[in-house]
Amino acid sequence: MEQPSTPDATPSRGLVMIVEDERAIADVERLYLSQAGFGVHVEPTGEGALERVRSLRPVAVVLDVGLPGIDGIEVCRRMRTQEDWTPIIFVTARDEEVDMLLGLELGADDYMTKPFSPRELVTRLKTVLRRSTGAPGSGVLRVGSVTLDRGSRTVSIDGSAVELTAREFDVLAFLMASPGRVFSREQLLSSVWGQASYAGGRTVDVHIAQLRSKLGDDSPIRTLRGVGYSVDGGRT
Ligand code: CA
Repeated sequence: MEQPSTPDATPSRGLVMIVEDERAIADVERLYLSQAGFGVHVEPTGEGALERVRSLRPVAVVLDVGLPGIDGIEVCRRMRTQEDWTPIIFVTARDEEVDMLLGLELGADDYMTKPFSPRELVTRLKTVLRRSTGAPGSGVLRVGSVTLDRGSRTVSIDGSAVELTAREFDVLAFLMASPGRVFSREQLLSSVWGQASYAGGRTVDVHIAQLRSKLGDDSPIRTLRGVGYSVDGGRT
């Protein structure tokens, strides 16, 4: 197995879920996306994708149409029915499929036809993400006095900027996107660092400690002993 040389050196752009039953294609997609700084999780089935998309909260899904069991179309449909608006890029076998998919108005964000250049996939993905985080309101998260802007990747407390590393930012953004929800170290690792990372639970603890020291008394991060981390908030 090939080890990523310096998993922490690349700024993480968040986790991308690849739903692909062909191992060779998934491997190429994974390689290019992780080189571009994304964490990557691969699901070979639609069922698995629907299950994991809720817990992993990827920033985007690269979704093959032809899957065994539930196909990509159904995966997209069910996500949108559940009000999950995670950006989706469909990967199709033929151009005609794109026409068919467009006709279905599934709420996908882009379409690519196999065979495609993995570089092109990375470009399209970045465009889709820019579009989705650039939407008014959607890029800014607030918990207590802490404001996080996913578009400009900045954090401030009562208007004064807090300097975070890329990874610290990603951890905080991930937690703040679901206030009140508790995430285990494993969930944080797979979502923020990505499946290919060799980081361990201790790495999560170190980043949380750094975040707390930088955010000081305003830190919204809570520890649930033996369970994981969350930020204050949620439905009250
Ligand atoms: Ca397939």
